[in-house]
Amino acid sequence: MLTPISGKSVIVTGASKGIGKGIARVFAKHDANVMIVARTEADARAVAEELGQQGTGNVSAFAADVGDWDSQQAMAAACNERYGGIDILCANAGVYPQTPIEDMDPSEFDMVLNTNVKGTFLSVKACLPFMKEKDYGRIVLTSSITGPITGFPGWSHYGASKAAQLGFMRTACIETAKHNITMNAVLPGNIITEGLDGLGEDYLATMAASVPLRKLGVVEDIGYAALFLASQEANYITGQTIVVDGGQTLPESIEALE
Ligand code: NAP
Repeated sequence: MLTPISGKSVIVTGASKGIGKGIARVFAKHDANVMIVARTEADARAVAEELGQQGTGNVSAFAADVGDWDSQQAMAAACNERYGGIDILCANAGVYPQTPIEDMDPSEFDMVLNTNVKGTFLSVKACLPFMKEKDYGRIVLTSSITGPITGFPGWSHYGASKAAQLGFMRTACIETAKHNITMNAVLPGNIITEGLDGLGEDYLATMAASVPLRKLGVVEDIGYAALFLASQEANYITGQTIVVDGGQTLPESIEALE
């Protein structure tokens, strides 16, 4: 049993659907105060209302773009005002359009890097002063197996962005360590979300067949990894990664799965 996180204040970016919503649900169930962040305010509000029923904490919405510095500063200030600080940041917002290099407009490359890498940097930078003030903080990044470990056609920009998050983390966590702020990353495999659903049934079936556990993950699988990394018990872990992929990255060949 982990030390309860009830009453802790948590920001989850990209929490209006998918993995972010799953992370937010797990924290809300464990009685934390959770701020649901996404660009589309109506979606964030609807999720805040739904998750507010899960535990005893307060769940609220805030519309912000992780790629915009003013917006990130406003997000951090709002969390501090609503919940009296920021204990935990789950920097999860990310985009993954699938486009081969030859067809990719350079602006799409910039957009993916701006959201996934600069967005991570900006959300961390905005929350740091509030964490430093309390000499306490837990930051959990949502990276991916794509980029740090594997590759997939169409995701060159995405893979670069997810690997870059880890490069960022390995220096940032040293800078924050003296303030008792840890930073770790969860690397999901293929998790069933609205975003992944859009890639089609064939893609989902092929992916499930390539996973030793023979199923895709669910968003709460990532939520519980994030909860552990944000817990008191993970206080001596920083700059590390947890792969949550049902064993997907392990088989040496197709034969290994037979
Ligand atoms: P998703 O279902 O498409 O949801 C993305 C969320 O991020 C939404 O809430 C979206 O809301 C928000 N968002 C997008 N751009 C944003 C921005 N610039 N500022 C603020 N919020 C933004 O995505 P997902 O599949 O849950 O993926 C979430 C994270 O997990 C990503 O970092 C992704 O790389 C990672 N991941 C996913 C999988 C998977 O299998 N699904 C696997 C590995 C890693 P708005 O559009 O309203 O802003």
